Amino acid sequence: MEPRSGRWFPTINPATEEQLSEVSEALKADVDRAVTAAASAQESWGRLKPSRRARYIFRISRLLQERSRELAVVESLDGGKPIKESRDVDIPLAAAHFFYYAGWADKLEWAFPNRRPRPVGVCGQVIPWNFPLLMLAWKIAPALAAGNTVVLKPAETTPLSALLFAEICQQADLPPGVVNIITGAGKTGSLLVSHPDVKKVAFTGSTEVGKLIQKAVAGTGKHLSLELGGKAANIVFDDAPLDQAVEGIINGIFFNQGHVCCAGSRLLVQESVAELLLAKLRDRVDTLRVGDPLDKNTDVGAINSRAQLEKIQGLVESGLEEGAEIYQPPCELPAKGFWFRPTIFTNVSQSHRIAREEIFGPVLSVLTFRTPAEAVEKANNTPYGLSAGVWTEKGSRILWMTERLRAGVVWANTYNRFDPTSPFGGYKESGFGREGGLHGLLPYLGLN
Ligand code: NAP
Ligand code: MG
Repeated sequence: MEPRSGRWFPTINPATEEQLSEVSEALKADVDRAVTAAASAQESWGRLKPSRRARYIFRISRLLQERSRELAVVESLDGGKPIKESRDVDIPLAAAHFFYYAGWADKLEWAFPNRRPRPVGVCGQVIPWNFPLLMLAWKIAPALAAGNTVVLKPAETTPLSALLFAEICQQADLPPGVVNIITGAGKTGSLLVSHPDVKKVAFTGSTEVGKLIQKAVAGTGKHLSLELGGKAANIVFDDAPLDQAVEGIINGIFFNQGHVCCAGSRLLVQESVAELLLAKLRDRVDTLRVGDPLDKNTDVGAINSRAQLEKIQGLVESGLEEGAEIYQPPCELPAKGFWFRPTIFTNVSQSHRIAREEIFGPVLSVLTFRTPAEAVEKANNTPYGLSAGVWTEKGSRILWMTERLRAGVVWANTYNRFDPTSPFGGYKESGFGREGGLHGLLPYLGLN
């Protein structure tokens, strides 16, 4: 749609630096228009027979499946992620979220017995660039199931799949105004979250921006949920099946170039097996294929933007300066585009920036421990608390660890497993509120 702001901005393919498209920049008048459309659609959508609402959401899920190839290609072109990931993870999971929440739409009274669930109103949703369509699904599916209308802003570098999604809503005959997509950068996001007619704000992104948003909505009575950063510990005990753990560590940190809020970016390995595990890990990293995101054999794609590449480079530089030891496989990188080699740092201590700050790139920091208590202490020694991994043969130890780890999600002998039925979210500076599962409906409902 022609923007009232009269402004457009380009989105590029980070693997080639070529421009893919120009999209409109929504400023005040455009944000107003979208919120007004959502507010006018709210009443009839909220009062629609729940089974009819479910039908629309099921239809969206089916259309996502039908158009999955196109969506996967767009996601990989716009964001740089390997096609095998967008094809096998992002798009199927996005469709699964709509399918799952469609099922709840007419069962809210059973989901919350003896309460009277009602919609909260227009939801303003702001998402990041690492899983554009999937983050959209995490936000829009529960909001619609609960009877709300939405205005969503995708990230500046990855707006295209959200725009295709808008087309899918039209194809599904969703009533006008129920879903509104506005594109733009941080300014657009801040106009949206502070709009007085927005009743609920849902944000996924950095802790820094999350704090700004929390300040902006304080005292307004708006509902708020924040999904922020992480610095997860992936903890390997000496009795773990090491080859399986190596696969989990690789997936934990190199999946989606490490642009993953719950990435296993700190490997904590028990001292007695550290040498053996690291040798296996280096061998495995040597086999990773870095390159063209559209090649289905690619394991590690392009870094999402130049700015993100510079952030990764800066933190890796600090790791070297602070005395950590680096390992990078000798792979060739394409001449154009934004790339970073899979990187493993050893000799890392707790005080190093690379052990404390979120790098959001393919960079693993390895620390060691001797006892389970030390593992817990090191794992929890972070301002974040989003996720963790535990690798051990002992079931009792898994339970002992999960009781003590301050993390929203703990994976045992696996990593980065997602399912729409399972809640996801953080402690401490990783945010509050849960997405997924029955919990994921709560932020979108008033209950009395
Ligand atoms: P970001 O800078 O916080 O941006 C996230 C979104 O907020 C983008 O759409 C951004 O727009 C927008 N935005 C920027 N400034 C804003 C403001 N003042 N008011 C409202 N919206 C604003 O984060 P990012 O660098 O894109 O994403 C990476 C971060 O997200 C990482 O820290 C990661 O851990 C976190 N993340 C968390 C989860 C989770 O579930 N917990 C999931 C994925 C990512 P522009 O991009 O257009 O500037
Ligand atoms: Mg792009």
